[in-house]
Amino acid sequence: MLAWHLGKSGKKVAVVERRWVGGSCPAVACLPSKNELWSARIAHLVRNAGRFGTLVDGVRTDMLKVRARKQDMIDREIAFHLQAYKESGVDLVMGNGRFVAPKAIEILLNDGGMRLLDGKEVVVNVGSHAAIPDLPGLRDARPLTHIEALELDEVPPHLIVLGGGYTGVELAQAYLRFGSRVTIIEPGPQIMGREDADVSEEIRALLSREGMKILVDTRPLGVHGSSGDAVTVSVRTDAGERKIEGSHLLVAAGRIANTADIGLDKAGIAVDTRGFIRVNERLETTAAGIWAIGECAGSPQFTHVSVDDFRIVRDNMAGGNRGTDDRLVPYVMFTDPPLAHVGLSERQAREQGIPVRVANLPMRNVLRTQATDETEGFMKVLVGANDDRILGFTMIGSEAGEVMAAIQTAILAELPYPKLRDAVITHLTVAEGLGPLLGNVPARSA
Ligand SMILES: Cc1cc2nc3c(=O)[nH]c(=O)nc-3n(C[C@H](O)[C@H](O)[C@H](O)COP(=O)(O)OP(=O)(O)OC[C@H]3O[C@@H](n4cnc5c(N)ncnc54)[C@H](O)[C@@H]3O)c2cc1C
Repeated sequence: MLAWHLGKSGKKVAVVERRWVGGSCPAVACLPSKNELWSARIAHLVRNAGRFGTLVDGVRTDMLKVRARKQDMIDREIAFHLQAYKESGVDLVMGNGRFVAPKAIEILLNDGGMRLLDGKEVVVNVGSHAAIPDLPGLRDARPLTHIEALELDEVPPHLIVLGGGYTGVELAQAYLRFGSRVTIIEPGPQIMGREDADVSEEIRALLSREGMKILVDTRPLGVHGSSGDAVTVSVRTDAGERKIEGSHLLVAAGRIANTADIGLDKAGIAVDTRGFIRVNERLETTAAGIWAIGECAGSPQFTHVSVDDFRIVRDNMAGGNRGTDDRLVPYVMFTDPPLAHVGLSERQAREQGIPVRVANLPMRNVLRTQATDETEGFMKVLVGANDDRILGFTMIGSEAGEVMAAIQTAILAELPYPKLRDAVITHLTVAEGLGPLLGNVPARSA
C-alpha cells in the first residue's frame, strides 16, 4: 500500500518480493485461513442442521473443493494486487533481497540473475515465519505450519496442534469441523495465554464441548514419526509422562522475524535480542532514511496494524510526526463463536494499577441468541473506577468483531458509558446486548 501510494504520487518506487504478491495475509495467512474456517463453519452448520429443522444425510468434507475455493480467492487477490502495481507505476521485482550497503539491495531474481537497487529511502517490511521449537525429532517429523495446513487435500484422522495461540486454535477448530479428531498441546497454564483467565476458560470449555481435546500445562518433550503418516508426541504433565499419537502435527508456536541473512548489519539497522528490527515510535530504524513496518518491526501481529504502520510512515515521510504509541489495537480470533478484544484487559488493569469497574453479560441474555441458538460466550466491559470512560471490552459470541467496533468507537470518542448504555439499539441485533451489559456496570463508590 505504501508503494502504491508513493508510486501514484509520482515517486519512483520498486518493491522486492520473494514469493507472495501482496504479502502473506492474502496468500497464506488471514484470507486463506478465514476462507477455510468459513468452509468448516458450513460443515458444522450442515452437520447440525437437523436441530433447525433441515434434514441432511451423510455429511462429508471434500478437501479438494475446500482448497479450490480458497485458491480461487487467492488468485483473485493476486490479480487485484498486480493491477494495483500496474496502475501505480511501481516496479515489482520478484526475488530475494538483501542489503549490500546502506540503502543498496541486491536481489537474487526468481527467474535467474541478479539486480542491484539503490534508493533515497528504504522501507523494510519482510514479515515473519512460523517458529519450529527446538524439540528432539520435531524437524524430522516434517510438521505442518499454517501454510501446509491450509494446503491439505485430506482430512487428517487425528491432528495434533502444538500451541494454543490464536493461529493454532483457529485451525484446530476448522479441522475438528472438517471431521478430524484434534488435540491441542499447550505448555502454559491456559490456551490464549494473554487473555484473562475467564476468557481463556470460556474458549476452552466451548471447544471441549465441541469435541476438542485441550491439554494445558503439558510440555512436549520429543516427537517420533512423521506428520501425514503417524506421529507421536511425548509430553510431561503434573501427572507424569505420556505419549500422544496422531496422524498429523501442526506447529503454531509463535513467529520469528525474517531478518536473518538479509544484510541488516551492512545497512546499520539494529535488531533486538529476538531478531525484530529496532524502531522508534515513528518507525524509523537506527539507519537514517530506513524505515521498518509490520511484524519485522515488532508491531502487534495483525494486518490492520501493518496497514496502520504504512499510514504512519506515509505521513512521516511527508514531513508529519505520527507515532505508534497512542493507537488502540483491536483483534479478533475467528473461531466460532469468535473472540474480540479492544483496550485494557482485567489482567492489564491489575498489572498497571488502573482501578476499574467490571461488568459482564452472558450471551444467552442477549435476545438474538435465543433466536439463533448461539448462546455460548459472554461480553465483558471495563469502565474507569473514577470516571465513566470505557477502558476495555472483550466478547466471545456471535458477531463479536462487529459489536466490538461500536465499543472501539466509543473509546476513541471518550464517550461516557451511560450514553451508549441508554442508546436505542436495534432489536434483534447482537449489539443490543451492549445496553444490558453497560447497565450492569457497578455504580461509582463515593
Ligand atoms: C494463519 C494466520 C492467520 C492470520 N489471520 C489474521 C487475521 O485474521 N487478521 C489479522 O489482522 N492478522 C492475521 N494474521 C497475521 C497477519 O497475517 C500478519 O500480521 C500480517 O500479514 C503481517 O504483515 P507484514 O506486513 O508484517 O508482513 P507480510 O505480509 O508477511 O509481508 C512480508 C513479505 O516480505 C517477503 N519477504 C521476506 N523476506 C524477503 C526478502 N529477503 N526478500 C524479498 N521478500 C521478502 C515475504 O515473502 C512476505 O511476502 C494471521 C497470521 C497467520 C499466520
